[in-house]
Amino acid sequence: MEVISGIHWIQGINGNCYLITDPFLTLIDTGFPHKTKKILRYITHELHRQPSELTIIILTHSHYDHIGNAEQLRTITGAKIATHPEDALYIERKKQPPLPSGGMGIIFKLLSPMIKVHPFHVDISLKENEEIAGLTILYSPGHTPGSICLYDPKRKVLFTGDTLRCNNGTIEGPSKRFSIDMVNAHNSIQKLKTLDFDIMLSGHGTPITENAAAKVREFAEKS
Ligand SMILES: [Zn+2]
Ligand SMILES: [Zn+2]
Repeated sequence: MEVISGIHWIQGINGNCYLITDPFLTLIDTGFPHKTKKILRYITHELHRQPSELTIIILTHSHYDHIGNAEQLRTITGAKIATHPEDALYIERKKQPPLPSGGMGIIFKLLSPMIKVHPFHVDISLKENEEIAGLTILYSPGHTPGSICLYDPKRKVLFTGDTLRCNNGTIEGPSKRFSIDMVNAHNSIQKLKTLDFDIMLSGHGTPITENAAAKVREFAEKS
């Protein structure tokens, strides 16, 4: 569905994937594996564009539910994959991905060979305040060491990855179980409350399409 002119949410994929249609076709996050066809179908059937027009794939962080189709999409479309260098280390397996603590870490370790996201190369490093596809990179460590948010000042849209989520219209911070450093995550959220935006598009849950900045401010102030 088109959330606002030029920004689409491809529904039915976990985690959320968004397509920006100008200045060129850009995909933000790719969901769990096995959704490549669904993403390509959205490009061809809903946008009436060619897969080869996909130019950039931005990954908000290295978790499997966000990077699962990136490599396959790059092979088919020729797009470049971009993310923060801290999480590129995990995607490329130059470092072992950090595991959640406690029992969830053990479950994660057991499940990860089954999810089968093979290491792949990242083409473009994204750092704080850099711009790509009309978006400003906001380095937001905490959920993972290299998490980023993306700010579209023209359309007043904030893409939050898993740094902020939306559950039935209510803003939530990142999952404690799956976050590496909750103190850093808290600091990253405090940074977001100074931005001017109307729409918040997160890695999980539904879009917040009205007064999103005020809702984020309210959440940040009590968290
Ligand atoms: Zn995550
Ligand atoms: Zn996620």
